Amino acid sequence: MTSPMDRMADFDLTPEQREIRAFVREFAEKEILPHVEEYERLEKYPLDLVQKLSPLGLLGPMIPESYGGSFSDVVSYGIICEELARVDWVVASVVSVANSLVGGSILRFGSDAQKDRWLPGIASGEVICSACLTEPSGGTDLGNMRTTATPADGGYRLNGTKVFISHARHAGLFLAVATLDREKKHRGVTAFLIDPHAIDGMRIGDFPMRTLKRDNLAEVHFEDAFVPDEAVLGEPGRGFPVLGSALDLGRYSVAARCVGQSQRCIDLAVPYALDREAFGSKIGEFQLIQQKISDMVCRTQQARGIVYQLGRMKDAGVERCSMESSMAKLLASQAAVQNALDGMQIFGGYSCTAEYEIGRLLMEAKTLEFGEGTSELHTKIIAETMLGMRKG
Ligand SMILES: Cc1cc2nc3c(=O)[nH]c(=O)nc-3n(C[C@H](O)[C@H](O)[C@H](O)COP(=O)(O)OP(=O)(O)OC[C@H]3O[C@@H](n4cnc5c(N)ncnc54)[C@H](O)[C@@H]3O)c2cc1C
Repeated sequence: MTSPMDRMADFDLTPEQREIRAFVREFAEKEILPHVEEYERLEKYPLDLVQKLSPLGLLGPMIPESYGGSFSDVVSYGIICEELARVDWVVASVVSVANSLVGGSILRFGSDAQKDRWLPGIASGEVICSACLTEPSGGTDLGNMRTTATPADGGYRLNGTKVFISHARHAGLFLAVATLDREKKHRGVTAFLIDPHAIDGMRIGDFPMRTLKRDNLAEVHFEDAFVPDEAVLGEPGRGFPVLGSALDLGRYSVAARCVGQSQRCIDLAVPYALDREAFGSKIGEFQLIQQKISDMVCRTQQARGIVYQLGRMKDAGVERCSMESSMAKLLASQAAVQNALDGMQIFGGYSCTAEYEIGRLLMEAKTLEFGEGTSELHTKIIAETMLGMRKG
């Protein structure tokens, strides 16, 4: 049944985009949602759930059909990320890393050989992708990275450590960045496509998290690891434009995921407010609870509106929309966190029990305020663009 929120969310979507939402929602609620809490308890990576996306074409929505993808428009891609994230952070993250960060970068900057080698496997789910950017010394100031790439006969030797790396233990392809010369800051950064099965000196280690254990986050160590020249994505020393373009689409898909998480908080809080009683009334009859529901709905719809608008700009071929990507990511991630907080307040103490999902959503939402640029970074990008200090 269409909810009052779908009425607005779907209003100016095409019939095909509405169908995609209905299809992904039904699939996600039936095939993924029932397993998520159990996988979290077991700290189990949802590889089997991810594989269910493949026959439906949901693993490669940004990959052209000639490479086995299901190439959709950008708005539809956002809707897929939104609906998957509404049920599971990790499954949605697999799609978003594969299409925005890794597959999208190969499409824009890769050679024909790199496209032929990697894109079909990404679209079919044979190759899970991982992006190695963040280092122990920091993830925001990427121009100051310490992982080095030293030219060697026929390639480069990589040395350094990356942390917080999602999907690393299951990945068949890593997009990693390293610097040719730390003095050159962002002009030294080079992007590499790394096959973990064809490299010596790359080691994956534990990176223990307090939450989101089913993602199996890891450290990735490069210890004199040799990568051939053919692994360079784009040109040596031109990794920053690769990163910029990857993160531009990445922030869009993260923002769409945040909308899905915000929506989930509403989906959980509304029936609870209609069921739970205090002082002889349903708590949903109290104005202070109604205020929270109204705030949750308004901020979700506001975030959704800006995400879809960004998707339409990208579909229209607007080359640069960094400021808009930052706005979408900033607003949507803040909405997801605040909705989780308001949702928890509605559940009272039960929000902290293992019985209810809402408490888990808070930590998941908070991580989305860090990944692919923190809120502070996006605030800076928006302000600096408006002040003419950077190109938008
Ligand atoms: C669940 C999860 C999954 C992740 N997955 C990946 C992944 O797959 N691959 C990957 O590479 N990384 C991943 N990350 C890492 C994430 O991208 C980084 O945490 C993020 O980029 C911030 O880096 P940092 O944590 O080192 O914070 P820092 O860069 O150390 O920043 C610390 C604080 O200082 C603030 N700050 C920094 N510079 C400024 C400034 N100029 N002005 C104002 N404030 C500033 C930041 O906003 C932040 O609040 C993941 C993180 C999480 C939590």
